[in-house]
Amino acid sequence: MAFEGLSDRLQQSIKKIKGKGKVSEQDVKEMSREVRLALLEADVNFKVVKDFVKRIRERSVGEEVMSSLTPGQQVIKIVKDELTELMGGNESKIAVSKRSPTVVMMVGLQGAGKTTTTGKLANLLRKSYNRQPLLAAADVYRPAAIQQLETLGSQLDMPVHSQGTEADPVDIAKQAVEQAKEEHHDYVIIDTAGRLHVDGDLMGELQRIKDAVEPDEIFLVVDAMTGQDAVNVAESFDEQLDITGVLLTKLDGDTRGGAALSIKAVTGKPIKFAGMGEKLDQLEPFHPERMASRILG
Ligand code: GDP
Repeated sequence: MAFEGLSDRLQQSIKKIKGKGKVSEQDVKEMSREVRLALLEADVNFKVVKDFVKRIRERSVGEEVMSSLTPGQQVIKIVKDELTELMGGNESKIAVSKRSPTVVMMVGLQGAGKTTTTGKLANLLRKSYNRQPLLAAADVYRPAAIQQLETLGSQLDMPVHSQGTEADPVDIAKQAVEQAKEEHHDYVIIDTAGRLHVDGDLMGELQRIKDAVEPDEIFLVVDAMTGQDAVNVAESFDEQLDITGVLLTKLDGDTRGGAALSIKAVTGKPIKFAGMGEKLDQLEPFHPERMASRILG
């Protein structure tokens, strides 16, 4: 299960303080030390951990008294609030453009789950938001990618704009937006090429697509299982493309939590959706508060 180790360790460290009617500075110090270790062990970014622990320590020591809570409960509330903040605070919504269609560009490295997530996002938009998306196959380098998206399209009974592997991805993206306008689709979701590593050619192409279609959202798909690598990938994509959000896949696996807990703090960009399995209905809006509650038990 995701976050299992982190969850166990954090629960252990707050358990001691939970029932306390009086919380000493020493208690806070001990708890902070344990929280710090738990986060580091979960592969959370070092600086993020440092700032996080500093905040809970400062807030817990000089805490304003709330009559409805015991001091122990109060400290736990601080940990939960800060954990929620760390993951982005409020749930962030997907953009809706004033001019239809809303253009969503999907970017990411190979294997992160980009193509699958493109299908899942389209499915979610239709089911939960009553939208009519058009999918666009702009990953021309991996022939199987176009086929994969077309298969997803037929499973979802949703149209896919594709021009084969010979066309220019920038042209595919532009034509897809035109088709969406003509056929009155309110969203167009463009699946772009991925590579094994971040490289200049890939970024150049993504930048040209971005310039051509001016997307309302640029979603980076990253694999939660890759921990700090996912955070580094997010940092470089954000530097080059100014992404608008992250879609974190494979949260159904036994990820330690490093990516989920570091990405917002490191990049400033929110995690918008989370992949919870391989099936097309297994994408959910990412709720920082619910996630924090789940981790703290
Ligand atoms: P791409 O190369 O980034 O386009 O990756 P794909 O979309 O082909 O996905 C790679 C693999 O990850 C496939 O086997 C997907 O089924 C799987 N995958 C994608 N998202 C999730 C998820 O949220 N959970 C799990 N368990 N598997 C996922």
